[in-house]
Amino acid sequence: MQQSSIFTHIINGEIPCHKIYEDDKALAFLTINPVADGHTLVVPKVQVDQLWDLEVADYEHLWKTAQKIALHLRTVMNVDRVGVVVKGFEVPHAHIHLIPVNFHSGLSFDPDPPPPTADNDTLAAIAERIRL
Ligand code: AMP
Repeated sequence: MQQSSIFTHIINGEIPCHKIYEDDKALAFLTINPVADGHTLVVPKVQVDQLWDLEVADYEHLWKTAQKIALHLRTVMNVDRVGVVVKGFEVPHAHIHLIPVNFHSGLSFDPDPPPPTADNDTLAAIAERIRL
């Protein structure tokens, strides 16, 4: 049996998160290392390492969920657009990064230095503002 990922622990409620959205197939929450305010991870409840290996129904549901959240983020974060990144170098549980950005601030995932861990109270305030 595969070991539970940190995201599975979050989905099971064993580790806290700043939740933005949840339904029967997906959970969205703020990353603890945001590259921008409102940087959200959209995660399938089923634990599969790579997005491309999801069953079609789960894959389609995840992107539909990402669209719903991105449209919402664009409005509530008052940004020009919402960037999307799929990498998975750190957590082997499929997920989509949604990053609210303005043109002048750009979108960077430069790993050196990595984004600092955000202050918990700051994340809680942002989550409160954007929760669906
Ligand atoms: P990656 O696997 O490279 O796409 O990145 C994994 C993302 O998950 C990074 O943004 C991490 O900061 C984030 N992350 C890791 N652990 C947690 C956690 N316990 N709560 C929220 N975000 C996390």
